[in-house]
Amino acid sequence: MAEHWFISGANRGIGHGLATLVAERGDDVTASVRSEKAREALQRDVARHRARFAIVSFDTRDEDAIRAAAKTVEEPIDVLVCNAGAYGPQSQSTLDMDFRGALDLFDVNTLGPLRVVQALLPHLRRAEKPRIVLISSGLGSTKTAGSTNIAYRAAKAALNKIAQGLAHDLERDGIIVVALNPGWVRTDMGGRNAELSVEESASGIVATIDALTPGDSGRFVDYRGEDTPW
Ligand code: NDP
Repeated sequence: MAEHWFISGANRGIGHGLATLVAERGDDVTASVRSEKAREALQRDVARHRARFAIVSFDTRDEDAIRAAAKTVEEPIDVLVCNAGAYGPQSQSTLDMDFRGALDLFDVNTLGPLRVVQALLPHLRRAEKPRIVLISSGLGSTKTAGSTNIAYRAAKAALNKIAQGLAHDLERDGIIVVALNPGWVRTDMGGRNAELSVEESASGIVATIDALTPGDSGRFVDYRGEDTPW
């Protein structure tokens, strides 16, 4: 049966791959973008071919815009994928930190997904088997060594903690919550030398989400459904 997927940051990269894939197999999709140009491009390349493909706009730093957009979204939402994210300030080590840039990155990558989850909770509560997927990163794993671009690593590690907290808080609502590591993917963020195509990562992510059960809530999984160390 068709499900309703909400995917943030769906105009390019992994989000675009996910939205295209699930729309092509017949699911309903609401995709978020943050600019008129991105909305037009997504409308041209996917939405106009699909009757049930809606587009909303917000920046994940803007709580009012997210809440206004949420009011226009059809209920229920079966799967919420908080994918929108940025790489933020480049740095060589923890001793070389752009503090303002790092704060902004936390706003986007750590608090942004939580704002989206909060605004769309009523839609998820009306679904039969609601799932929330926070797109994290292997770089946020405490097992991944290295300190370059530390703001990104720390923001994703903090997002993992939010995923764990949400899994706890939403257990009584029967909402499954996972953090998901999409692998290293050839996108604007991942670069040309990354291991996976967008299609490879997206198809693995969709299969992983399709297979989620309540027992998976609170896990940090990768695009193959395997555990990534916290
Ligand atoms: P891209 O840079 O290709 O796409 C990022 C998407 O997020 C775009 O749609 C972008 O919109 C949107 N976005 C960025 N900032 C904001 C914001 N403040 N508000 C709303 N939307 C925003 O990245 P990927 O597709 O590679 O990454 C997607 C997710 O996967 C991210 O969370 C990333 O951290 C994660 N990830 C990616 C990896 C990779 O190898 N590619 C590895 C591990 C994790 P716009 O076009 O307007 O900028």
